[in-house]
Amino acid sequence: MNVLVTGAAGYIGSHACKRLLAGGHRVVALDDLSRGHRRALELLDAGESLCIAEGSVGDEPLVTSLLAEHAIDTVMHFAALAYVGESVEQPLRYYTNNVAQGLALLGACDASGVERFVFSSSCATYGDPPEGLVPVPETCPQHPTSPYGWTKLVYEHALLGWSHARALSSRPVAVALLRYFNVAGADSSGVLGEDHDPETHLVPVAIRATREGAAPLSLFGTDYPTHDGTCVRDYVHVEDLVDAHILTMTSIKRGKAVAYNLGVGRGHSVREVIAAVERATGRRVPVVEKRRRPGDAVALYADASKITRELGWKPRYTDIVETVASAARWFEANPRGYDG
Ligand code: UDP
Repeated sequence: MNVLVTGAAGYIGSHACKRLLAGGHRVVALDDLSRGHRRALELLDAGESLCIAEGSVGDEPLVTSLLAEHAIDTVMHFAALAYVGESVEQPLRYYTNNVAQGLALLGACDASGVERFVFSSSCATYGDPPEGLVPVPETCPQHPTSPYGWTKLVYEHALLGWSHARALSSRPVAVALLRYFNVAGADSSGVLGEDHDPETHLVPVAIRATREGAAPLSLFGTDYPTHDGTCVRDYVHVEDLVDAHILTMTSIKRGKAVAYNLGVGRGHSVREVIAAVERATGRRVPVVEKRRRPGDAVALYADASKITRELGWKPRYTDIVETVASAARWFEANPRGYDG
């Protein structure tokens, strides 16, 4: 397939590009490089199968010309601002980036020959699920607790509307809403890893905190109604996550829209993740206990049985220590990230 990958220089986008190229697909990697790393794409060393384009998904003329020039049939839309805490502080920036610019991308797709659209959605669209609905199924009511979650939910609805309208036309499209739980780990060949600036995600922050002289980890909230008072999340390995994208891309049918949860199906508290980092690195994670971070849901882990049942997806990484260890290996080899 000819795939436009947005946010291609980011953490998940770059892993997806690597996997797509390994599968023989041609990739146009679009990124505005505001938070992504061109180096991650250059390291893929993919020759003519990879075209790197610098620009915004909100630049409709640019996207329109890329779609036409490369005869794109599939879009994987990863580009987004993705920090819950930041979204509470800067909601309009999140709506502009994740919704308004995303709609410009969709406008360009609508006017082109795109047949499949795979969207990086989020478990943040569920907010705090009603009692008894964790693990969370796709049918869980969606009431986000942060502007970030809302931007993902609004975009899901835009895609559902588009898919519905196109199903009634002579040009039906296939749409997949992939709701990620927490993504962690790094590419097993050691080429790619997670390098955000600023870094706010628990696993990389905890790994960095193990280094000599590094700032201690701030643990946000110890009074949650969970078994140890800290938030519970489901950490899916980035390679399993991108495998789910490939499976979805190759099986979704035109005229249909599907939603799948992507998670391991098991929750780990923040304290358990810290313990996993200590086991994986053999070093202590110094911790400072802080107040709750605004926007955080209490406990979110996936019922991912739908994609297993329908597409046969099964995560290979089910042990949090292994997932964390793969991230730690990349940090060890790249202590300053891609730019080191
Ligand atoms: N967390 C924390 N300290 C940090 C980063 C995260 O205590 O430095 C907590 C955060 O409050 C949440 C969990 O770890 O309960 C996962 O947060 P992360 O930002 O990794 O992902 P999110 O769930 O927000 O997508």
